[in-house]
Parts: sequence; structure tokens; C-alpha cells
Amino acid sequence: AYVIAEPCIDLKDKACVEECPVDCIYEGRRALYIHPDECVDCGACEPVCPVEAVFYEDDVPPHWQPYRQANVEFFDVL
Ligand code: SF4
Repeated sequence: AYVIAEPCIDLKDKACVEECPVDCIYEGRRALYIHPDECVDCGACEPVCPVEAVFYEDDVPPHWQPYRQANVEFFDVL
């Protein structure tokens, strides 16, 4: 699944929400989150993010690794 990392916090541009074909990007209090079980890995959200907050799960930069877990925990699908 794709993951939303730190640049989204307190920005929530939502360009990604418009692009997602399965509507699996949800709004949290301070950021947007991608539902890991609903994401179909189409990649449409990644290039439209103005702050490059979206990454494929295997491509999340080392310093933002905790955001992989954050996107899972937001939906409590552990
Ligand atoms: Fe939605 Fe596709 Fe992005 Fe997954 S990769 S969140 S399905 S736009």
C-alpha cells in the first residue's frame, strides 16, 4: 500500500483524495491517511501531492519509517 508521511501534517492538501480511484484516503485530525487494505497500489496519488508526502510502502525514506505504522494504526487494522 501507499503511505502518507510527515509533509502532510497540518497541510492536508487533498489533491490525492481527488485522484484516488477507490476513495481509500481518509482525513485525520492533522493529516490524511491511506487505508492499507483498501489501497490498490495504483500510484495515482503520489505525483499529485504538492509536498511529496506520498510514498509506496517500500520507498518511504528511513527517517519517515514510523509513518508506515501510523497509516496502519489510524485504521486499527493490525
Ligand atoms: Fe488510492 Fe491509488 Fe494512492 Fe492507493 S495508490 S491511495 S489506491 S490513489
